[in-house]
Amino acid sequence: MLNGICPSCGSATVHTMERGVCADGSDAGLAIRGSWSGVNSQDYVCVTCGYFEKHFPQGKALEKVASTWPRVVPIDRIPPNPA
Ligand SMILES: [Zn+2]
Repeated sequence: MLNGICPSCGSATVHTMERGVCADGSDAGLAIRGSWSGVNSQDYVCVTCGYFEKHFPQGKALEKVASTWPRVVPIDRIPPNPA
């Protein structure tokens, strides 16, 4: 995504803006759930398929996500159901 290529559809139609999507809906006018005021994320959107990436700087924002959001378990690490 950061190289300008969408990882979802492969198009070179990625646009980026600092704090493009933020908590209060200011800047680019898009709002996202949560409180991220003061976090200067860099946001990437593919205008072909709608794929979206938000990159937070190292620090408290990542610590907050790690402690409050459910983690996505890689599918190859999910133990098989006992038969
Ligand atoms: Zn795309």
